[in-house]
Amino acid sequence: MAIDSSLPSPILAPPPNEKFATALQFIEEMTKNCDKVQENVLAEILGQNANTEYLQRFNLDGASDRDTFKSKIPVVTYEDIQPDIQRIANGDRSPIFCSHPISEFLTSSGTSAGERKLMPTIREEMDRRQLLYSLLMPVMNLYVPDLDKGKGLYFLFIKAETKTPGGLVARPVLTSYYKSDQFKTRPYDPYNVYTSPDEAILCTDSYQSMYTQMLCGLLMREQVLRLGAVFASGLLRAIRFLQLNWRQLAHDISTGSLNPRITDRFIQERMKKILLEPDTDLAEFIIKECENENWERIIVRIWPNTKYLDVIVTGAMAQYIPLLDFYSGGLPKPCTMYASSECYFGLNLKPMNKPDEVSYTIMPNMGYFEFIPHEPANPVQLSRKLPPRLVDLADVEVGKEYELVVTTYSGLCRYRVGDILRVTQFHNSAPQFKFIRRKNVLLSIDADKTDESELQKAVENAYALLRDFDTTVVEYTSFADTKTIPGHYVIYWELLVKDPVHGPTGEVLEKCCLVMEESMNSVYRQCRVADNSVGPLEIRVVKNGTFEEVMDYAISRGASINQYKAPRCVSFTPIVELLDSRVVSSHFSPVPPYWTPERRV
Ligand code: AMP
Repeated sequence: MAIDSSLPSPILAPPPNEKFATALQFIEEMTKNCDKVQENVLAEILGQNANTEYLQRFNLDGASDRDTFKSKIPVVTYEDIQPDIQRIANGDRSPIFCSHPISEFLTSSGTSAGERKLMPTIREEMDRRQLLYSLLMPVMNLYVPDLDKGKGLYFLFIKAETKTPGGLVARPVLTSYYKSDQFKTRPYDPYNVYTSPDEAILCTDSYQSMYTQMLCGLLMREQVLRLGAVFASGLLRAIRFLQLNWRQLAHDISTGSLNPRITDRFIQERMKKILLEPDTDLAEFIIKECENENWERIIVRIWPNTKYLDVIVTGAMAQYIPLLDFYSGGLPKPCTMYASSECYFGLNLKPMNKPDEVSYTIMPNMGYFEFIPHEPANPVQLSRKLPPRLVDLADVEVGKEYELVVTTYSGLCRYRVGDILRVTQFHNSAPQFKFIRRKNVLLSIDADKTDESELQKAVENAYALLRDFDTTVVEYTSFADTKTIPGHYVIYWELLVKDPVHGPTGEVLEKCCLVMEESMNSVYRQCRVADNSVGPLEIRVVKNGTFEEVMDYAISRGASINQYKAPRCVSFTPIVELLDSRVVSSHFSPVPPYWTPERRV
């Protein structure tokens, strides 16, 4: 077994203070005692929730040991527990999953029946998440010293929230965090000083929020030591925003006045203290850099002291690495943590590793973790009657792939998160995982995740419009086009038009694009409408016979003729190029699809 038994070397900067030393020691203690900590966490969760309806339903009878738990509690998906979640959403305050009161719902970017999944959470989970955050800087400091000598330009946003029929708030986990007292009244910490004022982060209008955050980042450009957003797509959106808005930003800086589109009075008040006087030198510098057509290395040109980009580029976000490298001249991209609405899992102990070498260490104190061996050729059969014996955190094997299953303090029991992870090595006795992919996700640009059945449904709905034109879709596939920011979904269609004179017009095909977008889940539509993080969907009609060529290509590379199925999503460059070279017309969604924060019933 490959064991990585100590914190990273070479250690460039030893802990500068006791808080950091304690954090590093905590990581060591947790990872050295991985199995014991897991045993205790499970006992604590089961003890806390012994009287809940859920555990009683499976006759756990107060047992808190692993064996009884594993033999009685089924492994579940969201759909299995959705009726109970609905009861909580409707106002049932009895202890269904958890003995502590449910404080709110966290809305996952994973969807069920087209809507975001609702994850019940409890107040104390916020502290657990905070604990994980508090470990990030002590680890980063081992590699990048002096991060207390400047600021972080982070593009952070809150999103719309709703209330369930029973009155509980439902919102994304980061919105919950930024709106919490833990965040708003956080004590001064020289290692976590942001250029963005809280007033900008907390503004729900995405233009005003982004504009103010960018303006402050420009004003403090010399002090910026790191640039970040949660995901890579968010940072690229900020760069795109700068491309579109640098003239106005430079104008504000040169005149010391605020863009009239910024009407939020909290931002206005705060900016009076930041945008104190005109700075024509800075404005001229920004104009000079931005009007240059070549934006290569723009990040380090504008923010010359940036040491790294704090963004996640693992999983679906890996598609943005080349563009981030282009804009930043290849700055390191430490993927600091691995988390979800269900549970925050862990952190990257070697943040300076290259993206394809990133492994996350799941912290055993965050929840109780089990693993379903992931062998597509030989899938594990999960029966509700006879719960399977899953692999424990400390027992996973290097090189093998697993699906993550979590049991949380908020009451999720043996819940399948949907992530596939591969064990790379161990840190002490805790395994480290490479994020492989999320199960069933075909297309993703930002927070959106579209699976095969959602795409199929969307194509079918659009296809219905073609019947009047005696036209059928012979074959289709899709592609997440991220060459432009924001990226967008491309659907390649090969059509059989029976009567070319009366075939579908461009207008009809545009309507097909919109129908597809209307059919997508609410996270997709929110990205399109509220966040502008996904561009209009495009249909590219390809020449007849194109999909046969795609098949020939696949077969020439070893695919079996008998088992060949057209891929529902392509990313391999030669195939995308082949498809693109056969495009006869292209059509975009003319208007954004319907979306409101309210859930569709
Ligand atoms: P959400 O529930 O919307 O917060 O999304 C959580 C999901 O985002 C996880 O289950 C992963 O699929 C994905 N995710 C979170 N952190 C990472 C990461 N560091 N690398 C890759 N994917 C991640």
